[in-house]
Amino acid sequence: MPRITCSVNNCHYWSSGNVCNASQILVTSSSMSNSQPQNVDAPMAGTISTTPVQSSEETCCKTFVPRGSAQEDADGITLK
Ligand code: SF4
Repeated sequence: MPRITCSVNNCHYWSSGNVCNASQILVTSSSMSNSQPQNVDAPMAGTISTTPVQSSEETCCKTFVPRGSAQEDADGITLK
């Protein structure tokens, strides 16, 4: 996977230097992310509908989970 940089430092997958250490991530529309539970994530990417948007402000990282959250293991994503 390409190196992913991210400044969201309260995410479980964030690490020093603004690097994402998730094994995979799902970028999707913010509206899709808001409507789906935490377990819908990158491992399901091949089965979810496409979500076109008009601007970057309408996209988000669906893989985000707050550090320390009980939902850290809900999506099947691991740390690299
Ligand atoms: S999972 Fe998403 S929000 Fe979390 S560090 Fe990686 S890119 Fe950032």
